Amino acid sequence: TIPFFDAVIIGAGAAGLFCAGQAGQRGLKVLLIDHSDKVAEKIRISGGGRCNFTNRDLDVRAPHKHFVGQNPQFCRSALSRYTPADFIALVQKHGIPFHEKHKGQLFADRSAEDIIQMLLAECEAGQVKRWQPCSVKNIAFLASGADGSSAGSYQIDTSQGPVHTRSVVVATGGLSIPKIGATDLGYRLAQQFGIPLVERRPGLVPLTFDGAGWQPYAQLAGLALPVQISTGSKKERMAFDEDLLFTHRGLSGPAVLQISSYWCEGAPLAVNLAPTVDLPEALQQAKARSRKLIANELATLVPSRLADAWAQREAEWQRPVNEASDKALAKLAEQLARWELTPTGTEGYKKAEVTLGGVDTKALSQQTMECKAQPGLYFIGEVVDITGWLGGYNFQWAWASGMACAQALPGP
Ligand code: FAD
Repeated sequence: TIPFFDAVIIGAGAAGLFCAGQAGQRGLKVLLIDHSDKVAEKIRISGGGRCNFTNRDLDVRAPHKHFVGQNPQFCRSALSRYTPADFIALVQKHGIPFHEKHKGQLFADRSAEDIIQMLLAECEAGQVKRWQPCSVKNIAFLASGADGSSAGSYQIDTSQGPVHTRSVVVATGGLSIPKIGATDLGYRLAQQFGIPLVERRPGLVPLTFDGAGWQPYAQLAGLALPVQISTGSKKERMAFDEDLLFTHRGLSGPAVLQISSYWCEGAPLAVNLAPTVDLPEALQQAKARSRKLIANELATLVPSRLADAWAQREAEWQRPVNEASDKALAKLAEQLARWELTPTGTEGYKKAEVTLGGVDTKALSQQTMECKAQPGLYFIGEVVDITGWLGGYNFQWAWASGMACAQALPGP
């Protein structure tokens, strides 16, 4: 006979593991399957190996502040019912030491492995069955329940044989980092059941620039500095005060990863390379008291590599500061405060931390994550068109959407 489970969860990542443990602890018979032989590889590599597991600054009443998608308000219900404080309490219950870095970001002191072990222990407490590696070959909706009930049910054909279940939870994540197991299965399942998708693109990703145009800046590779970065016109302008990192091919660092989720192809970015300095004033003062080269004076205001590279851009900036015209200094100040540049693209899913777009939230219940038009089919985590900022917001969405689903799944 074909084994029956109350719920089958596909994807043993952040959302799937958490949902499985919580549903299991409610008394549901849960099967968790993943095509990879390892669990939660993304948690393992997250936050530089320390997993930035949530963010204390998350404002559950205003999710649009920290989440991107066609309708960021969608995540309010789940996020307000399972908050960062709830997850912190769980981490504390498991005795995992953690610390706050900046802007509310919480990291494990020792390693991301602590968070993975916690999720596995929660699954154990819920007697979750886990099949790994196990791939999904086909999912069919059976009109009448395989358990004899009148509710609908599903047959899932897997590499370990067929199973019957009342609920299918898709927690297959996004497309980023294919080499550790990301696939498009979740999106294909959505298509199979007629669930609309929002176009996918890489998010939290380094941006690249045209080879020749980038040449003058390539020498700055490795340089990091605090900036203000922005994109979009007045009404839709998004800005971040974070660190920028120059790379050989373009720009990275938290400032660029954050803005990348808002950047539209072809649109320019504006970067203030000295957001905390009054450049016009500082350069005027330098002119009044110094005979040093502009580049040398500039190097007291911004990193010296940047000062050198910048001064090289114009002949009138390659002279002693006291010999520079007011106009030349004003132009220098203005260009550093508003460096406009248009990326040619992104580093793609190979380097992206997340995938923007995904299962259209219009098709889902925000209370349960169930498809409105397909009873028993749920989508949680990153596969949904909800993407958080850098800083622990994506994991908090994985936990919260996983919990909303776990509480809603029908039991035996
Ligand atoms: P995932 O955790 O990606 O899990 C999906 C699971 O589904 C995987 O185990 C995968 O093997 C499985 N799967 C995929 N396809 C199939 C298939 N065909 N059949 C069976 N199983 C399948 N977010 C933060 O909040 N804080 C951070 O510090 C952070 N750091 C990050 C660092 C990096 C380098 C990256 C890439 C991402 C980071 N993120 C971080 C984002 C975060 O990891 C994801 O948003 C989160 O893991 C999404 O959870 P999920 O459960 O939806 O998907």
